[in-house]
Amino acid sequence: MPPFPAATAPERLLLGAGPSPVDPRVLAAQAQPTVGHRDPFAFAVAEQVADMLRTVFRTRNTATLAVAGTGTAGMETAMLNLVEPGDTVIVGVNGSYGARVADLARRAGAEVVELEEPWGRAVPAERIESALRAHPETRVVALVHAETSTGVHQPLAEVGALLAGTEALFVVDVVTSLGGVPLEVDAWGIDAAYACTQGCLSVPPGLAPVTFSERAVDRLRQRATSVRSSYLDLTGALAWWGPEHDDHHAVPVNALLGLHEGLRIVLEEGLETRWARHAEVGELFQDHVQDRDAVLLADAGHRLPQLTTLAWPAAVDAATLRRRLLDEHGIEVAGGTGGFAERGWRVGLMGQAARHEVVDRLLDAVDELLE
Ligand code: PLP
Repeated sequence: MPPFPAATAPERLLLGAGPSPVDPRVLAAQAQPTVGHRDPFAFAVAEQVADMLRTVFRTRNTATLAVAGTGTAGMETAMLNLVEPGDTVIVGVNGSYGARVADLARRAGAEVVELEEPWGRAVPAERIESALRAHPETRVVALVHAETSTGVHQPLAEVGALLAGTEALFVVDVVTSLGGVPLEVDAWGIDAAYACTQGCLSVPPGLAPVTFSERAVDRLRQRATSVRSSYLDLTGALAWWGPEHDDHHAVPVNALLGLHEGLRIVLEEGLETRWARHAEVGELFQDHVQDRDAVLLADAGHRLPQLTTLAWPAAVDAATLRRRLLDEHGIEVAGGTGGFAERGWRVGLMGQAARHEVVDRLLDAVDELLE
């Protein structure tokens, strides 16, 4: 007898802040035989993943790939490769992920200008405009497109237009937005974007899709100092994803196979249809949950459909309700965090979860528990 029994994962309906439910096709793709990362098969899969990612990011950037690691590895790749000690970096901080970006910029040696906004609000373009006027030496402006801690949808196009013709690179966190809401990397002048797989792409966590403009890659090539991470030095990843296929570290090929299948599913549906599905289902949930006296916490007009932050009335024990939802119905939602912790929930309707029948199942379970 082996000392431990096999670990059998329970069936869960994942409606938290990620991971989201995974299509069995993706799980089957990942469960294929392991192939070496120096095998021509792996190079061919990677080439197709990069092509599909370009479609999903809406970019023609050659430097489009998936970094080993979760969304935070994508964030670190962007900030550590594009920031040098002494650089001025402007960061919008209206939730915990903006704060993490600012922290990383500081770890990379930057002088960080934090544009703080109250939780639940977007960062206005005018604030970025005046920060740029005060700091014309700015090298990077970073924003979070979908703030998963607050449910805020950050407008980006106007900021991209502001940065056109300046020295500042535009870095955007699209961890919770990629594949769920409109994102136009090229048209909005975004120089670097990083994502995860376990949000609106509905693929298990383990890779961080990233894309870098030519301007951003030039910035990396012209660095006076070395990148403060060996593993996440983009030069290493670019060497494997490029035609020379030099490996700096092992590439998790099974995870790559899962992402490949997940992206095929996204493109079979069509990106715009997928955006519309998230918008419709998120709005439906937000309407119906307010009928149960929950209060939506993100500003109207800046609400993400795929991630809703809400507060229950004082009479409801939000933490117990959440625990019972998991124990008695197998449904995971996330608790509120930071400024939204009290009585708060975060409900993700991402990827495979953005469906009417999922909203019905969740609300039926909530109704039963609230009775
Ligand atoms: N950025 C945002 C907006 C996120 O929501 C998250 C995680 O939820 C991250 C970054 C970090 O991603 P990960 O947990 O995959 O490392």
